[in-house]
Amino acid sequence: MIPSLLIANRGEIACRIIRTARAMGIRTIAVFSTADANALHVREADEAVAIGPAAARDSYLLPANILAAARESGAAAIHPGYGFLSENADFAQAVIDAGLIWVGPNPDSIRAMGLKDAAKARMIAAGVPVTPGYLGEDQSPDRLAAEAARIGYPVLIKAVAGGGGKGMRQVDDAGAFADALASCRREAAASFGDDRVLIEKYILAPRHIEVQVFGDRHGQVVHLFERDCSLQRRHQKVIEEAPAPGMDGETRASVCAAAVTAARAVDYVGAGTIEFIADASQGLRADRIWFMEMNTRLQVEHPVTEAITGQDLVEWQLRVAAGEPLPCTQDELAIHGHAIEARLYAEDPAKGFLPSIGTLEAFDLGDPAESGVRVDTGVEQGSVISPFYDPMIAKLIAHGATREEARERLADALDEAIVWPVRCNAGFLVEALDHPDFVAGRVDTGLIAREGEALMPPALPSEEALIAAATALTGPAFVPGLRLNAAPRRAGMFLLDGQPIAIDFAEADEADEAITTSVLMSEGGQTWALAPFRAAGKAAGGASDGAILAPMPGRVIAVDVAAGDAVVRGQKLLTLEAMKMEHSLTAPFDGTLAELNAAVGAQVTEGTLLAKIAEA
Ligand code: ADP
Repeated sequence: MIPSLLIANRGEIACRIIRTARAMGIRTIAVFSTADANALHVREADEAVAIGPAAARDSYLLPANILAAARESGAAAIHPGYGFLSENADFAQAVIDAGLIWVGPNPDSIRAMGLKDAAKARMIAAGVPVTPGYLGEDQSPDRLAAEAARIGYPVLIKAVAGGGGKGMRQVDDAGAFADALASCRREAAASFGDDRVLIEKYILAPRHIEVQVFGDRHGQVVHLFERDCSLQRRHQKVIEEAPAPGMDGETRASVCAAAVTAARAVDYVGAGTIEFIADASQGLRADRIWFMEMNTRLQVEHPVTEAITGQDLVEWQLRVAAGEPLPCTQDELAIHGHAIEARLYAEDPAKGFLPSIGTLEAFDLGDPAESGVRVDTGVEQGSVISPFYDPMIAKLIAHGATREEARERLADALDEAIVWPVRCNAGFLVEALDHPDFVAGRVDTGLIAREGEALMPPALPSEEALIAAATALTGPAFVPGLRLNAAPRRAGMFLLDGQPIAIDFAEADEADEAITTSVLMSEGGQTWALAPFRAAGKAAGGASDGAILAPMPGRVIAVDVAAGDAVVRGQKLLTLEAMKMEHSLTAPFDGTLAELNAAVGAQVTEGTLLAKIAEA
């Protein structure tokens, strides 16, 4: 067995690999950029080596730095995870040349599948069905346009070096072809340094079906059945499941056999995925499923396959890399139940899915022992989500005897997720899992785009949740169900994630145990903070001691006063930026600025005393 393993990655996949390696008694070595010095994967590994600055191209993507870290730490093997250098054949070769074990396929297999056009040509030669299209050398716009017309619109232009959903353009008619080609080329040149494209028939209502394959150095290749990754947003997977809904035994046998043929055609060793596209307009049919590409690494969505087969794919990878035969033969593998995975992204669905960054002041995805839902994550409460890397912060994987059982478990777990003040897509995932088409297994890659608005989680918490939170802030005696018979109601002013909101709630009997800073409320996968309005120094008529507290974690972006200044009631003192919004903090009464603890640029936590006004 491998004695020590360097994981050339970060985040959840680094933690995932460390977990299995540790269980196998392998010494684990993490690498980290300056932005990740306090990251979870660094703490979970036995050792960690710094590899450079925050930008991935200067750290995680630099082969020389990774190899130096391996030398320094005496690592025997390198696992690349996914993304970063995982499909870089030159890096794989450099690892091998350095006398280390590369946990992945032979560099030649990576090369053979690296470019979409060459891979398709190779698959055609091996007898694997591929999507109808044009793979030619002639890249002149005229020839490409003629080929598009021959294939028949709509077509898809794809960068041959593309990946991650980038460098693709759907073209619906000949008139739009020239512009789409030019913009696809620009994106391909910028993202992949290669502006060549291929053209494919655009499959309407397609499903993304992929097959997990595994090879060893003893000539064995097996498949571990299929996954369905049809739920995508902008060609990026959001929810994946195994097995594929509606897949009959005969079709499965055919597509899995094609996947094994594809893997054998490139002498595949280790974990790989053969991606197919299915025209599911008449259900899944063997003659309407075509090879799209091969991913020569472990996939993000591998846990659904682990759940239904009961195998640990990272353990398989490490055994195969050590030269052992595959742990199972094809006959020993079977599907048990159903599994669904959801990808949790630090992004704000309400703002066009803009990535959301900052400190995870609250982060709770539930206890797997209670929910039965596996959580793979690279962060924890207190972690900082930086703008440098992929915004995926966790994966939740539910397994059940039936698809419905898995779906309900996953939706329940996401419903209770608490992530704050960083925004996440949990509310959106809950809506997607509960969508009638998803419930019925009618999935295709266009579902999210079509249903966009319908999948948007509510902008505000329910009235019930607001009242409960308002009551928690003012006192514990309130019972929502008894509201009509309870204390007299009144309208109070609060701050909901920094925005003023009036809540009609019942005043509690005993206010002495009231929470004075803020409460988090979570509903449908979304989390909001409710704070008393006065915390921002805007005491609504009530007494104030003149303390100007930060109503939420944020960054001071302007300070308009200096210590000792005379201020008047309502005068702007400073501006806090939180949740990408600006909040002005004003003087609650006339006086002088007795204390100023804030400087422009300072990161402050909730409740920090920023300034203090002394009465004049
Ligand atoms: P990438 O390498 O960037 O991930 P893929 O070739 O794997 O690109 O395609 C990504 C997604 O784009 C697929 O999962 C599918 O949703 C969509 N797609 C790809 N090819 C086609 C096609 N010919 N017709 C319709 N949709 C397609």
